[in-house]
Amino acid sequence: MSEVDDIFVIGGGINGCGIARDAAGRGYSVRLAEMNDLASGTSSWSSKLIHGGLRYLEHYEFRLVRESLNEREVLLKMAPHIIWPIRFVLPHHSGMRPAWLLRMGLFLYDHIGKRKLLPGTKQVNLKTSPIGESLKPIFSKGFEYSDCWVDDARLVVLNAKDAQERGAIIETHTKVVSARREDGYWNITTKNLRSGDTAQHKARLIVNAAGPWVDKVLNETFESSRAKNVRLVQGSHIVVPKIYDHDRAYIFQNADNRIIFALPYEQDYTLIGTTDQDYQGDPADVKITDPEISYLCTAASEYFEKPVNSDDIVWSYSGVRPLFDDGATAAQEATRDYVLRTDGDSNELRVINVFGGKITTYRKLAESMLEKIEEFNGARKDSWTANSYLPGGDFEVADYTKLVTELKTEFIFLEMSLAQRFIRSYGTNAWAILKGASNLKDMGQNFGGSLTEREVKYLIQHEWAESAEDVVWRRSKLGIRLSKQEILALDEWMQTNVASVKHAA
Ligand code: FAD
Repeated sequence: MSEVDDIFVIGGGINGCGIARDAAGRGYSVRLAEMNDLASGTSSWSSKLIHGGLRYLEHYEFRLVRESLNEREVLLKMAPHIIWPIRFVLPHHSGMRPAWLLRMGLFLYDHIGKRKLLPGTKQVNLKTSPIGESLKPIFSKGFEYSDCWVDDARLVVLNAKDAQERGAIIETHTKVVSARREDGYWNITTKNLRSGDTAQHKARLIVNAAGPWVDKVLNETFESSRAKNVRLVQGSHIVVPKIYDHDRAYIFQNADNRIIFALPYEQDYTLIGTTDQDYQGDPADVKITDPEISYLCTAASEYFEKPVNSDDIVWSYSGVRPLFDDGATAAQEATRDYVLRTDGDSNELRVINVFGGKITTYRKLAESMLEKIEEFNGARKDSWTANSYLPGGDFEVADYTKLVTELKTEFIFLEMSLAQRFIRSYGTNAWAILKGASNLKDMGQNFGGSLTEREVKYLIQHEWAESAEDVVWRRSKLGIRLSKQEILALDEWMQTNVASVKHAA
C-alpha cells in the first residue's frame, strides 16, 4: 500500500493535467491516472483554438466569454511556443446576420476581456485584399479579429510534465477501476492496461476529470446511482490540401445559424470544422459520419470559390464534447461553461467532478477546483499559474523568430523548417533534445518527415510517449506527413526500444 496522497486525479486530459499541475505547484501531493495516453480523449480532437467564442455571445454566455477572452493572453504568455495569435476573417453574408450585428458582436468581443498583445477588430475589403482572393466574388465586406491557436495535445503533455517536475506522479495506461471510502481514506484500485497489473492507492480527495467518461466513472468506479450529468456531443473536422496561401483563419456563418472555421494547418493544409451532434456510445469509438463530411464540405463551399469535395480530404478526426447537461434542446446550444460538483457531505470523503469546460478555460477551471480543494484539505499556497511558464515556454511572445535563428545558428545542420518546428513544439527545451549533436547523423535513424531517433527518444523519456500513435498524432502532428509504412516501422521500433530507452533515462 502506498502513502496517502492529498489528491488523486482521474483523467489525463487538459482538465486533469491542469488541475494536477496547479495542485502540485501549491505543495499538495498529487497522483494522476490516465487510462490511455495523455490527451488521447477529447483534448487532442479540438479545433485548437484559445478563443473567447464569438458565437457564445448570442447565447448570452458573458461570464464564459469574458473569462475566455482574458485567458487568451495569459495562456499565450505561458506557452508562446505552442500557442500563437491568429487573425480570423468573418465575411459578411447578405443572407445571414446583418453587418451591424457582426460589428456590435466584435465590439463586445474586443472590449469585454483584457487585450494588450492581440490587435483589435478591423473591417476588410474582400474585393481588394488578398484575403478575399480565395472567396467567391459575392463576398465583398468582412471583419478581421484576433484569437489564438494552440497545439492542444502538447498543451496537455506540458501541463503533465510541469506537474511531474513539481512532484506529481503521472501514470499513463492506468485505469481507475474502483474507489471506496475505507478507514478515513479513499482506497483506489488502478489497473495498468498494458501489463494487467493492479495497484492500491490511498488518497484524501478524488478529482474526477474523466471528460466524456465522467458519468461512467461515477456509475462504475464509485458505484453511484445512475449519474447523468454530461451531454455527449460529437464534433468532427476534415483536413484538405491548403485552399489559400495566407496565415488568416476564416469563420463562416452557416444557414443553420452555426459557424464553421477554416484554419491554416501544418503549413500545407486547411483544417475545416466543426459539427455538433448528440452522441451515444463509448467516446473512444467516435468517428466522422458521411452527413458530417457532406455538411462541412457544403458549408465551406458556400464561401470558397473552389468547392471543397470529400475526395480532397486527406485526414479527418472526431471528438466528443462532455458538455454540462443544462437541458438545452439543440446540441449546439448546450452551454460550453464548466461546472464543478462536490459529492460527499461534510462528514464524508469527497470527490469533486468536472462537468464541461473548454481548453481555453482549463487554467481557470483548475483555479476554481483548487478553491474547492482548499475548503477540504486546507490552503497551502496562493494561486500561481497566471504568471508561470509551461516547460520550454520561458521566452517572450515576440521572441519566437529570434529563438529560431539562435537554434539554427547553433545547430547549423538543421533545415529552417525543422528549426521552426522544434521551437514551435519544444521552445527552449529544443536545446535539450539537440545537445551534443553536430550533424544530421547525430540525430540517429530518420523515421520519415523530419522525425528522428533523437526526438523520439526525448519523447519517450520526457513526455510519456510509448507508441507511434502517441508520437505522430499527439506529441506532434507528423502523422499527416508520414506514410502508413513509415508509421508502422516507427511503431515496430518503439515496441522494441521503449523499455530500454526509458531505462537509459
Ligand atoms: P478529456 O480530454 O477527454 O480527458 C479525460 C481523460 O480521462 C481521457 O484521456 C480518458 O482516457 C481519461 N479517463 C476516463 N476514464 C478513466 C478512468 N477510469 N481511469 C483513468 N483515466 C480515465 N475547446 C477550446 O477551448 N477550443 C476549441 O477550439 C475547442 N474545440 C473543440 C472541438 C471539438 C470537436 C470538441 C469535441 C471539443 C472542443 N473543445 C474546444 C473543447 C475541449 O476539447 C474539451 O472541453 C476538453 O478537451 C475536455 O478536456 P477533459 O480533460 O475534460 O477531457
